[in-house]
Amino acid sequence: MRISLEDAVARLRNGEVVAIPTETVYGLAADATNDVALQKIFTTKQRPADHPLIVHISDISHVTDWAASFPEIAVKLAKAFWPGALTLVLPAKSHVSKVVRGGEPTIALRVPNHPVALALLKLSGLSVAAPSANLFTQLSPTTAAHVEAGLGVAIPVLDGGACQVGIESSIVSVSADGQWQLLRPGMISEADILKVVGSKQQIKVESEDEKTIQAQTPKVPGQHALHYSPRTPLMLFNNRANLIQESEVLMQAGKTCAALIIGEGNQPNCQVVQLTSQPNEVAEQLYGALHGLDALQVDCILAELPPNAPAWVAVLDRLSRAGYKG
Ligand code: AMP
Ligand code: MG
Repeated sequence: MRISLEDAVARLRNGEVVAIPTETVYGLAADATNDVALQKIFTTKQRPADHPLIVHISDISHVTDWAASFPEIAVKLAKAFWPGALTLVLPAKSHVSKVVRGGEPTIALRVPNHPVALALLKLSGLSVAAPSANLFTQLSPTTAAHVEAGLGVAIPVLDGGACQVGIESSIVSVSADGQWQLLRPGMISEADILKVVGSKQQIKVESEDEKTIQAQTPKVPGQHALHYSPRTPLMLFNNRANLIQESEVLMQAGKTCAALIIGEGNQPNCQVVQLTSQPNEVAEQLYGALHGLDALQVDCILAELPPNAPAWVAVLDRLSRAGYKG
């Protein structure tokens, strides 16, 4: 159900959830100070309660409503990248609800760079928690139609057009003593962040889960919980020739497939979505392309991974978590 800005404001004030556009992906928003409303996000998404939510604020002045400290490095990052696709994870004030923090001692904050999201925040006077408006682990939505396809047509959606960044924000945590860590890569790169803060990131102590994801994308499905993934099995290839060969093997075995390829060159003899070779454009179009391929209901989607290079880190991260190595 498409709704107006005024209706979205009224619903948020009334403790309801509303899907909203941001420049990264569509978010499922609720008043971040209302635990009952926040619970509706977790239920609607079927998201585990220990996955914290990002709070979207209208401007930098609201950081101290939520954060117990706002270290110099975090101030620099906020001034450089907000409004924009950077989330800051900061020590939380003690009054901040455990529901929005997923039980963590920290709070995640971002000023979105989308005129409709900003208008909503300003008009309502609220800060809203807004994880991606999809079921947990599934493909993130980058249009209002994707939200409806994933969560059903009854979900109220404020339509703000297609998302321009197209993948989730970069997440940086900054501790009270000013150490920082990149928790999730996004289109604001580690190099962009380094230029602003001037000091290297704290050496990461990786969780077992992160080690599994980063060491190697599993060779078979089911070895790690897939995230950002289509319903159709997604096989990933570093090499175009191997992708084409696999498409031939599948078709000879009577299976159907479709492919996502990045840049010019040979194509497999099945339905193909060809993206450009520009990282920003691929990020913008990635989820839309995967939603489209998923809708074909083929037996398998074959996708080409981008080069292992700094500009591609975020796209590589999302694709690697969405599928398994072919
Ligand atoms: P999303 O799923 O896009 O809403 O992003 C939520 C992700 O942000 C979580 O899965 C965490 O990785 C990170 N995050 C959010 N809030 C916090 C927090 N308070 N402390 C640490 N990480 C957080
Ligand atoms: Mg998500």
